[in-house]
Amino acid sequence: MKDTLTIALSKGRIFKDTVPLLQAAGIEPLDDPETSRKLILDTNREDVKLVIIRATDVPTYVQYGAADLGVAGKDVLMEHGGQDLYELLDLQIARCKLMVAGFADKPLPEVGLKVATKFVNCARHYFAEQGRQVDVIKLYGSMELAPLVGLADCIVDVVDTGNTLKANGLAPLEHMADITSRLIVNKASMKLKHEPIRDLLVQMQSAVEQRNTQ
Ligand code: AMP
Repeated sequence: MKDTLTIALSKGRIFKDTVPLLQAAGIEPLDDPETSRKLILDTNREDVKLVIIRATDVPTYVQYGAADLGVAGKDVLMEHGGQDLYELLDLQIARCKLMVAGFADKPLPEVGLKVATKFVNCARHYFAEQGRQVDVIKLYGSMELAPLVGLADCIVDVVDTGNTLKANGLAPLEHMADITSRLIVNKASMKLKHEPIRDLLVQMQSAVEQRNTQ
């Protein structure tokens, strides 16, 4: 019997940009997660299933082997820590930057800096490496509000066009990391299901390369 492969994906941008790469590997989802309420999607291949979960949960499903593979942003992987999984391929989709943002005309305090973010591990690591002591405040969304109401001096968030920052009177201040989505795999799955995973990887890799030359 063929090994089954379970691939964890989040809805929205990542799903939309990953589907063409899966199609190049001969995998077609049979449902659209934007219209279906199903959390496990069948594909045209009986041996491949997709699980649709929150972006921040993708590394956890892959870490514990509930999914063999997944697609997750580098921001989410850095925050998770990447235990028990390998990053196989940079899919070069969902490109953005992890940044410190705040008021353009107000320098950040040297001491007692308050940082609001959902990326608490990334923020702690970034400021600690620079020897800057900060108070990191965990939020789950709408980070841009925090400096406006005096909850924090700055935020750490992903920035694409910068329009959301601008609309709230904020500006990017410090570049922390360039972000793209990665194909990740559970370490045990990589050993036990080596052949189908390698086939998928080779096909997705050539799809990424082909797309880049277009
Ligand atoms: P922006 O284009 O900078 O106004 O981005 C709008 C919002 O979308 C940001 O505040 C982010 O939270 C989110 N965002 C943008 N790009 C990404 C991405 N590649 N992955 C996850 N979230 C993103």
